[in-house]
Amino acid sequence: MANRAYNFNAGPAALPLEVLEKAQKQFVEFENSGMSLMEMSHRGAIYEKVHYDTEKLLRELLSIPEGYKVLFVQGGASTQFAMVPLNLLRPETTAAYVATGSWATKAIQEAKLFGDTTIAASSEADAYNRIPSISELNIPENAAYVHLTSNETIEGTQWAEYPDTGSIPLVGDLSSDILCQPVDVSKFGVIYAGAQKNLGPSGVTLVIIREDLIAKPSLTVPTMLRYDTHAKVDSLYNTPPTFGIYMVGEVLKWLKEQGGAAGMEKRNREKAALLYDLIDGSGGFYRGFADKGSRSLMNATFRLATEELEKQFVKESEAQGFVGLKGHRSVGGLRASIYNAVPLDSIRALTDFMRDFQSRNG
Ligand code: PMP
Repeated sequence: MANRAYNFNAGPAALPLEVLEKAQKQFVEFENSGMSLMEMSHRGAIYEKVHYDTEKLLRELLSIPEGYKVLFVQGGASTQFAMVPLNLLRPETTAAYVATGSWATKAIQEAKLFGDTTIAASSEADAYNRIPSISELNIPENAAYVHLTSNETIEGTQWAEYPDTGSIPLVGDLSSDILCQPVDVSKFGVIYAGAQKNLGPSGVTLVIIREDLIAKPSLTVPTMLRYDTHAKVDSLYNTPPTFGIYMVGEVLKWLKEQGGAAGMEKRNREKAALLYDLIDGSGGFYRGFADKGSRSLMNATFRLATEELEKQFVKESEAQGFVGLKGHRSVGGLRASIYNAVPLDSIRALTDFMRDFQSRNG
């Protein structure tokens, strides 16, 4: 077996070893075709089957109701920060955002380029260490949509429950927690997610959009940035990221074998509890960043008494085969990203290391 690191990277992130090994087997020649998947036409029968099977499995695993389109696009979730307002915002409406942290802020900044924005609620005053409660939301009547970031990858916070926004479409950036647990897609008008945390490699972005929202945007919106362009032709308007979509399909097959979204949630809760219990039981040596009620199942953020000690933690962890534990450069501290494909054994190894580190430095 390959020599695998304890990979806690925030994204691109750990992929299931079984998937990597299967992809390796299929890499040079795909299904007796005489070529790799990357060398064949995206209009051919072999690729088309991969494409549509991946969509079908996504629909199954996310229980996507009738009336929604599933799109595979490019440009990362960051391009969705622009596509959402470009396609949904009208001059007489405002775009309402919940300011929960670094990624929500990026989405807001982008939307400001295209029209009026409103902050429906914000936890900026608390350094974004919590998700505002649903009762804090203030949604203007003329909101074209309400945007939330389901999991703030950098701060390590996650919505525990989504608001009911009535007739105003809810738009969710689920980049860093999609399929970590079941989700009621019918609550959303649009869901988008970059693939590189829970779904596969970078380069593919998933968009799930209610069909009535795929209206014709203004004529000045570039063709590639219009949802209708991709929706009309099942994401085959131009050359899709074929290998990435194949990898997403393989990750989804793996996820189904693990019990689907519900199976993932059970595992993820067990994984997160190991880590948070250790933090909470450390007598203040490790200090969780997020409020307990807003803690993320995917990104556990914590601090030590001094930056010096945090540096030492990172250095020693790296020497012992742990990767990716340094917090994001914008907020500092430490972060363990524990996405779907991070095995329980990696968390056990990490908590052992953390206990040992505390015993030597506490
Ligand atoms: N939203 C969230 C919540 C993210 O975590 C990220 C990436 N870390 C992005 C958006 C941006 O994604 P991309 O790099 O695919 O543009």
